Amino acid sequence: MTKWIYSFGAGQNDGNAGMRNLLGGKGANLAEMSNIGLPVPPGFTITTEVCSAFYENGRKYPDDLKAQLDDAMARVEKAMGLRFGDANAPLLVSVRSGARVSMPGMMDTVLNLGLNDQTVEGLARSSGDSRFAWDSYRRFIQMYGSVVLGVSHHRFEDLLEQTKRELGKHDDTQLTAEEWQMVLKGYKDIVLNETGTPFPEDPQDQLWGAIGAVFGSWMNPRANTYRKLHDIPASWGTAVNVQSMVFGNMGEDCATGVCFTRDPSTGENVFYGEYLINAQGEDVVAGIRTPQPMAAERATPDQNPMEKALPEAYQEMLKVRDLLERHYKDMQDIEFTVQSNTLYLLQTRSGKRTAAAALRIAIDMAQEGLITKEDAISRVPPASLDQLLHPVLDPKAERKQLARGLPASPGAATGVIAFSAEDVEDRASKGEDVILVRIETSPEDVHGMHAARGVLTTRGGMTSHAAVVARGMGRVCVAGAGSIMVDYKAQTLTVNGHTLKAGDWLTLDGGTGAVYLGRVPTIPPTLSGDFSTLMGWADSVRRLGVRANAETPEDAETARRFGAEGIGLCRTEHMFFGPDRIGHVRQMIMTEEKDARAKAIGALLPFQRDDFAALFRIMAGLPVTIRLLDPPLHEFLPHGEAELKDVAKALGQDVEALRARRSALSESNPMLGHRGCRLGISYPEIYAMQVRAITEAALAVSKETGKAVIPEIMIPLVGTKAELDLVRKASEAVIASVLKEQNATLDYHIGTMIELPRAAITADKIAESADFFSFGTNDLTQTTLGLSRDDAGSFLPEYVEKGLLPQDPFISIDQEGVGALVRMGVEKGRATKPDIKLGICGEHGGDPLSISFFESVGLDYVSCSPFRVPVARLASAQAALAARKAVKA
Ligand code: PEP
Ligand code: MG
Repeated sequence: MTKWIYSFGAGQNDGNAGMRNLLGGKGANLAEMSNIGLPVPPGFTITTEVCSAFYENGRKYPDDLKAQLDDAMARVEKAMGLRFGDANAPLLVSVRSGARVSMPGMMDTVLNLGLNDQTVEGLARSSGDSRFAWDSYRRFIQMYGSVVLGVSHHRFEDLLEQTKRELGKHDDTQLTAEEWQMVLKGYKDIVLNETGTPFPEDPQDQLWGAIGAVFGSWMNPRANTYRKLHDIPASWGTAVNVQSMVFGNMGEDCATGVCFTRDPSTGENVFYGEYLINAQGEDVVAGIRTPQPMAAERATPDQNPMEKALPEAYQEMLKVRDLLERHYKDMQDIEFTVQSNTLYLLQTRSGKRTAAAALRIAIDMAQEGLITKEDAISRVPPASLDQLLHPVLDPKAERKQLARGLPASPGAATGVIAFSAEDVEDRASKGEDVILVRIETSPEDVHGMHAARGVLTTRGGMTSHAAVVARGMGRVCVAGAGSIMVDYKAQTLTVNGHTLKAGDWLTLDGGTGAVYLGRVPTIPPTLSGDFSTLMGWADSVRRLGVRANAETPEDAETARRFGAEGIGLCRTEHMFFGPDRIGHVRQMIMTEEKDARAKAIGALLPFQRDDFAALFRIMAGLPVTIRLLDPPLHEFLPHGEAELKDVAKALGQDVEALRARRSALSESNPMLGHRGCRLGISYPEIYAMQVRAITEAALAVSKETGKAVIPEIMIPLVGTKAELDLVRKASEAVIASVLKEQNATLDYHIGTMIELPRAAITADKIAESADFFSFGTNDLTQTTLGLSRDDAGSFLPEYVEKGLLPQDPFISIDQEGVGALVRMGVEKGRATKPDIKLGICGEHGGDPLSISFFESVGLDYVSCSPFRVPVARLASAQAALAARKAVKA
């Protein structure tokens, strides 16, 4: 018999933290908390296997599930001394979804399940508080109605707001039992009108309805979107947790809260959280009432910290905090309830945090001896380092503050206002920077948050949906800026006498919570000491070298600042677009006369020499790989009439003749056309000039600095050994003649890109003539998959969506296909020349997943854009650690 249900709490724990895949994150953690002696209300988890079986069998449950569920319920009833559906002392339960990883797109929670017109009276009697009982019942209908029955929660809220207005009451807690009964009747009418069926009174029906809604929500569009964004396979399924209710809203000695064992924004080692007296969990997260801080030291004089209001429970929470961190060895996000001064833990999970917090927590925990340095390195997601490199507001820039909210997710963002996720996507797709402004956000807004630069909400705390999701995504977020009034209908926001429309500019500082009028300029961030500590640790364990792709002095400086160990790719064609150069380049290409070409090329020589000298100086003896010209030719052709005339004038040629030349040079498929070494073979003078410039610059900078410069000259788009031989021979002749002229010596390397399948397949032969290989995985992906780099964007997303490709192969390397060619190139290259230097300089050089593949095939270094150098350093370290672990295992 398959075990579909695992119990936890009150002395029976079938599961543990290691059973995440089967029990989901929430279920595994509830079992684990209970295992380590924490006070968890008893309940059970319906496994993710039930979800899979449900979908495999046309949305039908396994036959024996009901019997197992009845047994599990009976155990909970016994543990609580209550009965499900009992009119006198009813057991109430919560039902929550719980996948392996937390997923905001899914049905979240239904509380107070088991209430109906009879049991509510029983609850009123047993609690001695009929106001509480009726309030609980209406909350249940509201939650169940919206998350299980699909009635818009606005319908319920509107009715409640209207009733409160009519009664002249502001706060929910002011409503009496009778008044709640009135609201409740209205709620039931809403359900009947919207769904055509009365609200289910039978607790068993309620329970199965909620379970069905959780499993159903696994495949809803929001969950699907979230899974796609986070690479979560649909086959994982979700678990369902059914747990007996405890109440934080039974009076002034009750409370509910959400807290983090450390500050999730900064990582500081302080107890961080929010709670509300006399409230239920959703009140804290939904931001309907403003939560209060946990710790007294974090409270302002007008606040009521838990430390003072409920001192005993607070002291117990401190112990729990310590115990959980020591047990899980990670920062935890905890949900708790205090019922009549007794503390219950409802949930603990690894807390979502900003990149800065992840870094600080990892470093602090290693220094506190809680985890090892290797653990610390592995804990920080490499891609999240991007967030630390986010811009901040220019402190010198003028600004006008409009409002202040909570600093929910760091960084500065400036953009135009959009009031809906759809409007954000619309504007972002046109290239605009957008700020999403909402009263509060919900899972429906996730796609808009993703497309936005920043998110501003007027309601909600640090644990609100907006704050948690934005932090996870690395979007700037200011939450709960309560002085701002948003009018969705009019598409305006009003604050302090200003009214801004959709499309007006707004600036957010997610580090301080400030909201500014208009567009405030931003500047690059300064990096904290924790950043360099982690980078240092990463450097001490990684095997792969990390270089940067850079051709301008600014990029080279940035690359060095971020720790690049050289330049792995200088794309010389990028150097030819300056206004002082492009004319000569066009003349060089357009003329058919040798002398005119020599003249144009001669004019470029001093520019190139200075360009290379600048890079050599900045790199101060570190390797610099300069790739000879590899332009898609069409990019350089004179486009308009004016450009054509300029070239004609400079060359002293007839415009019509040049027009004919331009059309002769135009290609229908430039990416597979006259580019790379093919160009250098047709026009050897161009490469000769570049090699001369490289040699002269290397000699000059060696002399100037007293440090040897060893240039690496790279030949692009080689498909055969013969091509490389030809270009190599010509280059060596130029180098020899420069050395002779200057009576000097120079160490240099000549190598090639491996970026065509034929080059990888014949790498053993090509290696005979190459000192190094650098895999050009952009072109190798293009040519292996037959996918145009320039055009694939229009249909690739659909491929990924439909699961035809696991991810965009231009972002993360296609290990099975392109990767096999890289592996072949490595093996064949080394078979010929064991010490051949092997690198990769396609975009994949900065992608953590691809980097772990490059580690596994044994490349020597990766080269990526300067801002991704820290990402690559950390990803390389993680890859090295994973490789060592695999060897040990
Ligand atoms: C490549 O093809 O991977 C490469 C690095 O060269 P480029 O992107 O300039 O074609
Ligand atoms: Mg290329």
